[in-house]
Amino acid sequence: MLRVTEIFRSIQGESTHAGRPCTFVRLTGCPMRCSWCDSEYTFTGGEHASIEDVLNQVRSFGCRLVEVTGGEPLAQPEAFELIGRLCDEDYEVLIETGGYVSTEDLDQRAKVILDVKCPASGEAERNHWPNLARLRPEMDEVKFVVADRFDWEFAREVVQAYDLESRAKSILISPAWEQIDLQDLANWIAESGLSLRMQLQMHKYIWGADARGV
Ligand code: SF4
Repeated sequence: MLRVTEIFRSIQGESTHAGRPCTFVRLTGCPMRCSWCDSEYTFTGGEHASIEDVLNQVRSFGCRLVEVTGGEPLAQPEAFELIGRLCDEDYEVLIETGGYVSTEDLDQRAKVILDVKCPASGEAERNHWPNLARLRPEMDEVKFVVADRFDWEFAREVVQAYDLESRAKSILISPAWEQIDLQDLANWIAESGLSLRMQLQMHKYIWGADARGV
């Protein structure tokens, strides 16, 4: 059984898939406690559901793009089977992971959006660095949520040290919500000379920062 916070259909708000219709499977629970976390409601609660229950709900929405997210979706061992079953049904599957759990056993057909936690999150020491070596340049993306200049410097150093421009399809730089001047971040990215992509959380501009199920 999985523990599920919510399953809903919306548009994808982040990554290179932003703007696409997408079904979200938001699993409950996370071992991390990022200072700027916007999904603390996933830490507890949720409802038990079988993999078949989840698949039935996903099928009912009719989207070919499905994101498995959380919380930390990979913290539940059964999530790996769910992801495989979604791939078996030819869904295009995105996994949004906080980077704490190894992606080694993930179904190779799923596309990974891997967070690297920066210092202001308070969780940078829990990054599982071997995950970076598993990124595939044709399909996986890596994301840094940046809250201040120090985070930006950290992100830039990790991009260069791990040669992420070669390893990832896209390197996403996302401002921590209402914590950093957007123009400052845009200028740092523009000046960097690196192949980065600044992204805003589209769903928050459409529905508001506290909306659930969108
Ligand atoms: S990994 Fe994600 S869900 Fe977990 S605390 Fe950090 S931002 Fe929140």
